[in-house]
Amino acid sequence: MSFNQQTEGLHVEGLSLASVADQYGTPCYVYSHAALTGAWRAWADALAGRNALVCYAMKANSSLAILEVFAQLGSGFDIVSAGELERVIAAGGDPARVVFSGVGKSRQDIERALAAGILCFNVESYPELLRIEAIAAAQRTRARISVRVNPDVDAGTHPYISTGLRENKFGVPFAEALTLYRHAHASTHLEVVGVDVHIGSQITELAPFLEALERTIAFADGLAAEGIGIHHLDLGGGVGIRYRDEEPIIPADYIEAVWQRLGKRPWQVLFEPGRSLVGNAGVLLTRVEYLKVGAERHFAIVDAAMNDLLRPSLYEAWHDIRPVSQRAGTPIEYDVVGPVCESGDFLGRARALSIAEGDLLAVMSAGAYGMSMSSNYNSRPRAAEVLVDGTTTHLIRERESVKDLFRGEHLIGG
Ligand SMILES: *Cc1c(COP(=O)(O)O)cnc(C)c1O
Repeated sequence: MSFNQQTEGLHVEGLSLASVADQYGTPCYVYSHAALTGAWRAWADALAGRNALVCYAMKANSSLAILEVFAQLGSGFDIVSAGELERVIAAGGDPARVVFSGVGKSRQDIERALAAGILCFNVESYPELLRIEAIAAAQRTRARISVRVNPDVDAGTHPYISTGLRENKFGVPFAEALTLYRHAHASTHLEVVGVDVHIGSQITELAPFLEALERTIAFADGLAAEGIGIHHLDLGGGVGIRYRDEEPIIPADYIEAVWQRLGKRPWQVLFEPGRSLVGNAGVLLTRVEYLKVGAERHFAIVDAAMNDLLRPSLYEAWHDIRPVSQRAGTPIEYDVVGPVCESGDFLGRARALSIAEGDLLAVMSAGAYGMSMSSNYNSRPRAAEVLVDGTTTHLIRERESVKDLFRGEHLIGG
């Protein structure tokens, strides 16, 4: 295991988390190189010999060194902004393996991505298709597109991370998608290359994926019958991970089921995993500032907060919280909270912990949607990030300084 309990405390690969905290301070994100590559292999091994491309959905964690690890493994990338594209390029990724998702692509986003020669725009509406067509015409080129269809499948997840239902803002219903495909097929500045679907996140069952797949295959078959051939099927991301006691599907089973249903169709299949590649490869390391023992509840006030890890506040997400070193004594039930001035600022509630002021805690499974959703709320510099490979540490992001927070701000000079 990449994060493992030893008698001298919790380790990441061959290093104690306590030594990482000593060297780099807290709060600090700590990633395991072995866990990242292991998660990649779960996809790559199952896809070996199949016509497929993994496009890491980098919004899960877009730190340059994380992208570098996946780029070197041959990954493509799923981006949602031109800023993410610049990160791919800075990390040594290949724009020709980039797909561009998202409902609100700006003109600048599209211009930049088209000029960089990305693999495909995943189009989310008719007006977006028209905008891409106009920009491609201005650049005297053709934009490769797929339409993100909305298959009206309930992924059975938290409403904030479900995207494949009719009422969501994402994707285009099949009937309307057909109109978009006919328009694109007839256009000199658009090239239809795929059909795209993405139904949500932290999905732990196979059934919703397969329901969406079957509906999408039927739709693509209909396109082919009209003479609108595609090159690839993009099945999006959404494969869940274990935070607590979930029994998530494994990529190999999903992949096997996909190819069973594809039959002899010659399409390449794209996958856009985010969470499943990075979620369990990172922890947020934090130190107990104060123990505040009240009449109703006990609080462990730590130096990490909702600005560092938003998921508990935003989705009521549950992360395991483990003491880095075991301490004797009867555990007490604490709400583990940060210093931010919001009642919604918590990392975990009602956790039985045997801890004292100054102890280190590890918030587990924090590699996805942790650092990438962090902010400077309350003028808190963002955490450092450290990648551990065996016993070697790489500081992949310096802790922000307070001065960094002022950059670009101006007094009015009154
Ligand atoms: C967020 C997102 C993903 C990744 O989802 P995970 O649940 O992290 O795998 C993939 N594709 C699209 C279009 C997304 O919006």
